[in-house]
Amino acid sequence: MTDIWTPSWSRRRFLGGAALLASLGSFATACGSTGGKPSSDAAGSGPSATASASAPAGSGVDAELIARRYPGLKPFAPAPPPPAVKPVTLSAAHPLVFSRVPITEKVVFVTIDDGVEKDPAFIQMVKDFQIPLTLSLADTLIKDDYRYFAELFATGFVSIQNHTVTHPLAMPRLSAARQLEEIAGQQEKLKREYGTTPYIFRPPGGNYNATTVAAVKEAGLRGMMLWKESMEIHDMQYQTASHRLRPGDIILCHFRGPAQLKGETMVQMMANLYRHIQGQGFTVADITHYV
Ligand SMILES: [Zn+2]
Repeated sequence: MTDIWTPSWSRRRFLGGAALLASLGSFATACGSTGGKPSSDAAGSGPSATASASAPAGSGVDAELIARRYPGLKPFAPAPPPPAVKPVTLSAAHPLVFSRVPITEKVVFVTIDDGVEKDPAFIQMVKDFQIPLTLSLADTLIKDDYRYFAELFATGFVSIQNHTVTHPLAMPRLSAARQLEEIAGQQEKLKREYGTTPYIFRPPGGNYNATTVAAVKEAGLRGMMLWKESMEIHDMQYQTASHRLRPGDIILCHFRGPAQLKGETMVQMMANLYRHIQGQGFTVADITHYV
């Protein structure tokens, strides 16, 4: 736990989160359960003007501390140098839907969605492992504590992307105007809160249609990111028959805590994920270097 969280602050956060969860019902756990449908994988090359917030993994990571705090884990191997040309080329004119990156190195990408759980111990975990993470945030789930994600962003290891204002799982049923509001509205809020301009959209539940792609374009984003595996409490759900990670896979996780994880914490869930990744001989790289 970091000591910047005063008791009153924590309590306010907790009450806000509890009320929010009650009002949302099961929607936090619903996100992603229907999504990640296979999509046409992206390929191609070309320049892309995007800055990354992440620092190289492995620099100054304390192996002893990792082993002590996270049993069975070690520092991740450093990610390979970023490719000179991004393997996935996004386009403002024609936003691309992608769910993995066509590479051969044993690298995967970790993405974390929504924002319901705000565990200070996870901020420490991000600092301990120093691996790049991509956060897709929905305003309705983070607005009770924007500061938490500012703290995460300030670690330098995360990028922040767009996951709508209200997290509508039935996005394809919304009008064009409403879909645009969800995406463009969240662009503004993320810009205002974190000073960053997302360029990737993640549709809630992985549900989208042609209207969504048009709204992504209209809102100034350049791609829509799905996934190949999703992390549950202990295990991953694979979309492939091999039930193994493959180079370039995008893994979906959620900000979840004991209420959604049968008593386990966000840190425990992420440690479980890291064990799967390390156990299969993979390391983690920054998607913003590849897309
Ligand atoms: Zn979501």
